[in-house]
Amino acid sequence: MHEIGLYLHIPFCSRKCEYCDFNSGPLDPTARQAYLRALTKEMTCSPWKGHTAKTVFFGGGTPSELTRAELGKLADTLRRTFGLKQEAEWSIECNPDRVSLAFFVALLDMGFNRVSLGVQSFHDHHLQRLGRVHDSAEARAAYRWLREAGCDNVNLDLIFGLPGQTLKEWKADLYEALTLSPEHLSLYNLTIEPGTEFGNRNARGELQEIDEDLSADMYELAMELTQTAGYRQYEISHYSRPGRQCAHNLIYWHNEPYLGFGVSAASFMEGVRWTNTGNLFEYARTAASGHVSRASEEKLAGREALGEEIMLRLHTDEGISLSALSTRYRFDVAALLARSLESLATHGLVTQEGDRVRLTQRGKLMANEVWVQLTTDN
Ligand code: SF4
Repeated sequence: MHEIGLYLHIPFCSRKCEYCDFNSGPLDPTARQAYLRALTKEMTCSPWKGHTAKTVFFGGGTPSELTRAELGKLADTLRRTFGLKQEAEWSIECNPDRVSLAFFVALLDMGFNRVSLGVQSFHDHHLQRLGRVHDSAEARAAYRWLREAGCDNVNLDLIFGLPGQTLKEWKADLYEALTLSPEHLSLYNLTIEPGTEFGNRNARGELQEIDEDLSADMYELAMELTQTAGYRQYEISHYSRPGRQCAHNLIYWHNEPYLGFGVSAASFMEGVRWTNTGNLFEYARTAASGHVSRASEEKLAGREALGEEIMLRLHTDEGISLSALSTRYRFDVAALLARSLESLATHGLVTQEGDRVRLTQRGKLMANEVWVQLTTDN
């Protein structure tokens, strides 16, 4: 069996950002302690205890809300419970508020070797509108401390398509990020989700949503400037220096197995995908009994499984190999997709070289439409 990826969901945030639909938010100290106990129990009761893992990802929420002692205990539990490879990638998401040089030094001592910093924008008025708790000066300081601590694998998260954002502002964000020269950039197009503060304001007509053409221009600018600066766009929203792709995220896009621990965490093992309950109290209660309740579970087979793998792999610049998929799923995938691929190629959304199919630049802008056509037309 494949070496797996391990994900820990830390749902604490000091304040809820206005655009965020993740399972996260402020938690009182009692609930937080109960959650950490549940998380530890879920890991130690895992039926895959002892399995070899090649990546660890602490995501959230805001893992950097945890104390060094709390993070150290979780990292030790993972090491004791799974067979972590010596060269495993250990990633952690941090927000620029409440971090320090000493905090980053401690993270590296614990074994984290990749830090993802939630910068989002270098413009303070946008950070305020997003409801972020930090300002751009804190983001710059956090980046400096990371480098001083000796971290040589840093990702910066930035968002474009913000309400009221101009192309000039986004260009300035990109220039500043590229000047800092991180190993990895995650550049996300803002989506306004129902149920978030932005979603509510949008429904009331109080949010100045960005024009789709302007968002597309921002995305194209990101692709152009990162490429000029020597980054490879190895996935729709992710750009890296050579050899610095996020190994954990590649597990998802390569359709490889992973275990997620924590409230609403997703897992994919032995062909079954499931998501833990999203209810914090139910999570804590059921984890204590050794069996976390699940919000969903499915075992995909045949064409459904093929559709899922096409969708995942097309995210990356490697695209899909029709012959490799044919061998794996025992369909003639080239014949199955021939009509759709021809139509998508005519519209300039995919290219085909030999048996390898990839999204074009235009295809990346319309990736959802491509996936729908490839998975429903056949
Ligand atoms: S810090 Fe991240 S996870 Fe927390 S509320 Fe903001 S966007 Fe959501």
